[in-house]
Amino acid sequence: SGKYDYLIVGAGLFGATFAFEAKKQGKKCLVIDRRGHIGGNVYCEEVEGINVHKYGAHIFHTNNKEIWDYVNQFVEFNRYTNSPVANYNGEIYNLPFNMNTFNKLWGVVTPQEAKEKIEAQKAEAGIEKPQNLEEQAISLVGTDIYEKLIKGYTEKQWGRKATELPAFIIKRLPVRFTYDNNYFNDKYQGIPIGGYNVIVEKMLEGIDIRLNTDFFAKKDELEALADKTVFTGMIDEYYEYKFGKLEYRSLKFEQEQMDTSNYQGNAVVNYTDRETPYTRIIEHKHFEFGTQDKTVITKEYPSEWSPGDEPYYPINDDKNTQLYKQYKELADKEDKVIFGGRLGTYKYYDMHQVIAAALTAAEKELT
Ligand code: FAD
Repeated sequence: SGKYDYLIVGAGLFGATFAFEAKKQGKKCLVIDRRGHIGGNVYCEEVEGINVHKYGAHIFHTNNKEIWDYVNQFVEFNRYTNSPVANYNGEIYNLPFNMNTFNKLWGVVTPQEAKEKIEAQKAEAGIEKPQNLEEQAISLVGTDIYEKLIKGYTEKQWGRKATELPAFIIKRLPVRFTYDNNYFNDKYQGIPIGGYNVIVEKMLEGIDIRLNTDFFAKKDELEALADKTVFTGMIDEYYEYKFGKLEYRSLKFEQEQMDTSNYQGNAVVNYTDRETPYTRIIEHKHFEFGTQDKTVITKEYPSEWSPGDEPYYPINDDKNTQLYKQYKELADKEDKVIFGGRLGTYKYYDMHQVIAAALTAAEKELT
């Protein structure tokens, strides 16, 4: 038995939540991360007084009161409400698809008129058994919404033509017949005042941390320091890819600082035409109602993932799901290692979900 009760690999939300709970139970933890900072993908870097979301825009939203109260013990949230807009060749539309969108598209005013318009377009397309993503989308929302707001964006995201993508990718396309631009349906939503780092810093207060430390570079030495390991890195890497590599989708970010106080008037603008190479521009200051003279924007480009790139989104198709299952069988047999988080369990988690998962794991382990 070593000096620490737990070696926690990864200072993201899973690792930090677990560490905070373990500390409360009097356990001693060592948290390591291969990056030079804590926070994992919710990490923000301050530029010109603006919290820049370095690994993609993060908006906290949940219906779970327990999780909302939990995060509010660390930080106060502002009243930010996610209302992205779409830019289609210079035409601006509100998202998610709602009465504001329909009014701009067709001049319709009442929900009845909007429904009739969509139904008429669906009927005209006459698609009975959608054979690909394009047919699926048109059969759900009609041609106009598809052409202007779905087609180009989706093709950029997947790097393939919509007619060459399977229909099942889009199961539903929510349309809202009210003038409500709030993207999320959740009861609680906001951005932490002072940024996400405040949460993670508070969670890890008083806990030993080693940054720029890769678990695999000194696995034996590090594991020997603690009774148990909580591992939030890639599960296939842990097992030396013995069954093969799990696949991901990645993103490339291009950050620019500008000498203007307001570049695009909204935190999130989706570019839904095919010609613009990026899918979104994020203007970070609007997440926190910033009043600085300068601004920082990030262009987001979808990208193929190859080993060494940041693994952002797991690809939960049959092949990868089967592969993960093989690794999970090994993981389930471990009695000194707990796998958690989005990389450790090969699962897309929103922030509130990964915190909930860490609380469940901590409760199981610590009581
Ligand atoms: P991570 O944050 O990835 O933490 C894992 C940590 O482990 C990393 O810091 C990594 O460096 C470290 N690590 C890995 N391997 C090793 C190793 N071998 N040695 C040492 N350290 C290692 N959620 C929302 O709720 N709202 C949003 O708007 C939202 N937007 C998102 C946008 C993007 C582009 C992405 C990718 C995700 C988004 N999420 C959002 C999800 C959110 O980022 C995750 O829920 C959360 O970050 C997961 O935390 P984690 O601890 O599991 O993983």
